Amino acid sequence: MKRIFEDTATAFALKTDSELERAYFIFKMIANEPLVRIGKAITNFAIKSHLPVEKLIRATVFDHFCGGVNEFDCLPTVDRMYEKNVCSVLDYSVEGKDSEDPLDDALSMVLKVLDFVKEKDAIPFAVFKPTGYGRFSLFYKVNEGKSLTEEEKAEWGRVVARFDKTCKKAHELGVSLLIDAEESWIQDAADLLVEDMMRKYNKEKAIVFNTLQMYRWDRLDYLKKLHKKAKAEDFKMGFKVVRGAYMEKENERAEEKGYATPICASKQETDINFDNAIAYMIDHLEDMEIFAGTHNENSSYRLMELMRERGIEANDSRVWFGQLYGMSDHISFNLANLNYNVAKYLPFGPVRDVMPYLIRRADENTSVAGQTSRELDLLEKERKRRKI
Ligand SMILES: Cc1cc2nc3c(=O)[nH]c(=O)nc-3n(C[C@H](O)[C@H](O)[C@H](O)COP(=O)(O)OP(=O)(O)OC[C@H]3O[C@@H](n4cnc5c(N)ncnc54)[C@H](O)[C@@H]3O)c2cc1C
Repeated sequence: MKRIFEDTATAFALKTDSELERAYFIFKMIANEPLVRIGKAITNFAIKSHLPVEKLIRATVFDHFCGGVNEFDCLPTVDRMYEKNVCSVLDYSVEGKDSEDPLDDALSMVLKVLDFVKEKDAIPFAVFKPTGYGRFSLFYKVNEGKSLTEEEKAEWGRVVARFDKTCKKAHELGVSLLIDAEESWIQDAADLLVEDMMRKYNKEKAIVFNTLQMYRWDRLDYLKKLHKKAKAEDFKMGFKVVRGAYMEKENERAEEKGYATPICASKQETDINFDNAIAYMIDHLEDMEIFAGTHNENSSYRLMELMRERGIEANDSRVWFGQLYGMSDHISFNLANLNYNVAKYLPFGPVRDVMPYLIRRADENTSVAGQTSRELDLLEKERKRRKI
């Protein structure tokens, strides 16, 4: 297959020279692992102490990886990307809240985004994460099958109601909804809830999408088992397929608590598992829809190849490619240029609330994690091409 991702002119067509320079500077900075470690500590301290660092964060990493502090801020970016056939998924990235108000705020925000999805072709999905709608420790308790106090039962009822309200609205509007996956020790509780939503709202087509983290060795089996259930009970499945973002945490907890890690034994096994999942889904597109959330070039080429082999059109509405805003533009824009369906997660929210998200991006882009050198190489190549 032609190496389309090497075309940096298409990849960075939307970036002005100064935006290109900023991207280069940011990736250079976060490639430096000690600098990231120190930067994280200083930023956490500054934010907790209410020091005025928000402007600095905004002008650098925030603006590179996020669309703005609210949904309206994101719209110019959404429109700009759509000129190049790249869609956006507005991702309200406020994480890990323990009181009820922020959970209800997240619900209102996602309901509002669903209206955008209905109105704007450039925004084809809404998204939320389970712990945006419920307390982590409550998910954990439900996951463990522990009995809940009366108060907790009522609280869980409100979590279920938030899921249901969102999925019901998505169904009424006929628009799709992605639900993120998180740590394995709360994921069964989330999965059961999402399965119920699929059963209820995916009768005609996939409205509700769950997420499969293929760094988990048990996920291919889960996919196949759910497929059997979905066939027997007559509902469609939607899955975002990713590798998974919590590997270190997963391995550390398994080690600490003395159980077998749910994570594949090596990167290569995760890669094989991921590619097996996309192949299985492509072979059963009559029953399911796929959103492949990956920055991996080989997996992206593999999915293109599978589609070509099975005679599936590039813009078949059941197959989507997804990347995060600020990363892997060479994949997104080159795929979109060939008419594939592509959507980039565009996070937004108040700067201090988006910090955990930004820290995860910095972590996965250090030289240790190994993504940065590729981003830097591509930016370097484009700078040379533009003679900057
Ligand atoms: C649009 C989108 C949505 C996403 N949504 C979610 C989500 O809901 N939940 C979530 O958890 N993540 C999510 N992610 C993040 C994703 O799971 C990955 O962390 C990230 O995309 C990096 O993986 P990759 O496929 O891009 O490629 P690569 O860079 O090729 O793979 C890196 C990944 O491989 C795995 N890996 C690395 N080393 C090993 C090893 N030694 N053993 C086993 N596995 C290893 C890890 O999962 C690591 O993140 C999302 C990503 C995108 C692009």
